[in-house]
Amino acid sequence: MATCFENRAWVHSAIACLEQEAARSADTHLLKLDMAGFPGIHFYFKDESSHPTGSLKHRLARSLFLYALCNGRLQEGQSVIDASSGSTAISEAWFARLLGLRFTAVMPECTTPRKISVLQSLGAECDLVPAGVDTSEHARERARAEGVCYLDQFGLAERATDWRGNNNIAESILTQMQKESNPIPTWIVCGAGTGGTSATIGRYLRYRRLPTLLCVAEPIGGAFAQAWQTRAITETKPCNTIIEGIGRSHIEPGFMFDVVDKIIEVADVDSCAAAWLLEDILGRCYGGSSGTNLIACLQLATAMRDRGETGSIVSLLCDRGERYAETLFERTWLAQHDIVLDDALGELRQYLGQDDGMIKR
Ligand SMILES: *Cc1c(COP(=O)(O)O)cnc(C)c1O
Repeated sequence: MATCFENRAWVHSAIACLEQEAARSADTHLLKLDMAGFPGIHFYFKDESSHPTGSLKHRLARSLFLYALCNGRLQEGQSVIDASSGSTAISEAWFARLLGLRFTAVMPECTTPRKISVLQSLGAECDLVPAGVDTSEHARERARAEGVCYLDQFGLAERATDWRGNNNIAESILTQMQKESNPIPTWIVCGAGTGGTSATIGRYLRYRRLPTLLCVAEPIGGAFAQAWQTRAITETKPCNTIIEGIGRSHIEPGFMFDVVDKIIEVADVDSCAAAWLLEDILGRCYGGSSGTNLIACLQLATAMRDRGETGSIVSLLCDRGERYAETLFERTWLAQHDIVLDDALGELRQYLGQDDGMIKR
């Protein structure tokens, strides 16, 4: 095929459309949280649930579309496809609709009907594949066979993001910290799904020559934790976490081990309890991976306190908890997954000394 069908005018208008969307969108809040049990240590949580599509994947989806357009891989009238059953598919479907493109989400058959209906209401097609089929491979294969643009969140997350700046998540956090008493965080804590967020933050910290350390908060048994320790990137075991968005079973291409200073593995029950606690503290509901982040923050803060250190710790609230109303925030569902919530929640409250106003928003 020698002819080039590129319609540069359409590409330009699509890029303009993405820029307009970025200009219309406000930055996400950085919420401050002080806990009486940790004097002199300030906690900050970047509320990524306040993006128009409800999660940090809004940033990724915008970057993936821009990356495809600027690489000449996405043309007028072309459809787009990606493998995702979670937040990424929702954000990608939203951007596809904005650009007037058809979007297909490849996901496992066992995906909850609620998610399927959310995607369908955004105009997405859901391609359900049987358990055991690699959704990324299936999406790549369909893209090749049908001439569809494969957005490839797992393959491209780390390079589609402009890590030097352009208001990436790290630049935004550090700018928002500028007037705080400890503007340079001791730690930044995030999860790893595609690895894109941790790669961007880790690179940016070096680029800006900051001493801030990066901690990845991981469900127990997650591939990032296993390979970070051994660097044996092929040796992975399945990770059966109930926390969505993080805790991958295999190494993703976007996992940049060298920019991560520490990994903290968190039991699902503690992540769930922390997600419930976040709702108490913040008055809004966030997903399980935000709970995982909170537990890691508390561990780091405890070590700082024990060493007599003060400073700031920044983490992320990754997505809206409403998405998990029938799962993580439903006691019967938790019981079915062997999560004994009340004990863990009680312990966590006790640990924080959370009674009458001990935690201040
Ligand atoms: C994707 C995701 C993460 C992890 O972010 P990555 O940048 O993909 O590593 C954490 N929490 C939720 C809810 C996510 O969807």
